[in-house]
Amino acid sequence: MKQSAAFEILVEIAETHNALIIADIGSQSLWLKAAKDRPENLYLSGPMGMASSVALGVATAHKDRAVIAACGDGALGMNFSSLTTISNAAPANLSIVVMNNSVYEFTKSLPTPTRGVDWDNISSACPGFKSNIKLVEMKNLDLMSGPHFVHAEIEPGALPPGPGINAIDIHHRFKALFK
Ligand SMILES: [Mg+2]
Repeated sequence: MKQSAAFEILVEIAETHNALIIADIGSQSLWLKAAKDRPENLYLSGPMGMASSVALGVATAHKDRAVIAACGDGALGMNFSSLTTISNAAPANLSIVVMNNSVYEFTKSLPTPTRGVDWDNISSACPGFKSNIKLVEMKNLDLMSGPHFVHAEIEPGALPPGPGINAIDIHHRFKALFK
């Protein structure tokens, strides 16, 4: 599956559940914005690999909203320990999605060190996750009965569309949802 198609599926699911999406810096943010720009999307900037941690914070602060983290495989590898924290805290409203193409798409598609990680078996090591499924199976998922871990297998492909994202504006737009 192309990453653009994966994000179209993810946005459709998010809209069905009125869910927030927290996207990692780089490819994840840009493909998400290309699929559909929504106030409920938080495009991260700054350190790589923080979507899972930021999403945990948002899910903890807003227990009545479904929260989805869109993580690159390389990015999540940089913050792998967040999975143990999420497993332990186990917020029911959080879903972690790894967009796995085994490369850093943004940096000339260099291979990621997470190649070989068994993303379909994360819940064995992190038993707080209530399910460990593929992206297409997420359509039938209750996003408020997690935490869930979702594996999207995507093809390495073209770079995402250009940024057009102002980090401060995005931050203010997202925070305004909770006033
Ligand atoms: Mg990748």
